[in-house]
Amino acid sequence: MTGRRIRIPHLGWVKMREELRFRGKIVSATISRQADRWFASITVDTEDLPKRPVEHQGVVGVDLGVLSLATLSTGERIPGPKALRRDQRRLRRLSRSLARKKKGSKNRAKAKTKLARLHARIANVRQDSLHQLTSELARRFDVIGIEDLNVGGMVRNHRLARSIADMGFREFRRQVEYKAARRGALVVVASRFFPSSKLCSACGRIQDKLPLTVRVWTCPACRTTHDRDQNAATNLARYAVSSTVSACGGEGSGNRHMTVVKPAPAKQEVGAKATLA
Ligand SMILES: [Zn+2]
Repeated sequence: MTGRRIRIPHLGWVKMREELRFRGKIVSATISRQADRWFASITVDTEDLPKRPVEHQGVVGVDLGVLSLATLSTGERIPGPKALRRDQRRLRRLSRSLARKKKGSKNRAKAKTKLARLHARIANVRQDSLHQLTSELARRFDVIGIEDLNVGGMVRNHRLARSIADMGFREFRRQVEYKAARRGALVVVASRFFPSSKLCSACGRIQDKLPLTVRVWTCPACRTTHDRDQNAATNLARYAVSSTVSACGGEGSGNRHMTVVKPAPAKQEVGAKATLA
């Protein structure tokens, strides 16, 4: 490989859309196709990359949202990517237009390619916003409290199933765990029975019911009005604190599950993706 060209067996030299972003020894390369585009995923063995320093901001609870991407116990709300809404409108329009095209026609094939490209784009935008969020969390905080969503059990609820699939909770957890490991932070996953939304963070009363459509609620015991996501994030932060305390103090930690992460090895492999022109 030199500059913006890559040599592919049986094909010869192929131009790449962008240069390789990392220096080091190239270990392997994988060529893949997404919609009608080709990608080269190149693994490079590098020295440690200079990273923005960790900030040791302590504990954070993270509530992954339906409306926003995430709410933090610090009061920050991270909106979902703006581009997504527009893309979703285009998606609906393209799907309708595809349905109207005659089977086997050239126009149908074209519409199909367009649709596949848009699907790929949406997936990339989503993945990118998750990466930004998880990198930031691992860099800023020492302890990160997250929920253990019982995704399987929730798939029955149609509306929720969609947003959970959309936000890619599993992917969020995978990312935050490996990034925390690199940064020496701790991820505390709350038990799936922990009522992070229904628990009043002011007085500790647990609501019987809290339908998903209810975004703001008032605790009948202490009259505190809660933003649903903010309250959950606060509870997750507290859960994380009490879990680390009980883990260190040797108290019974009950059904708490904890991911203790180790510092990363000195060398790491970096995957870089470059679009072939
Ligand atoms: Zn209360």
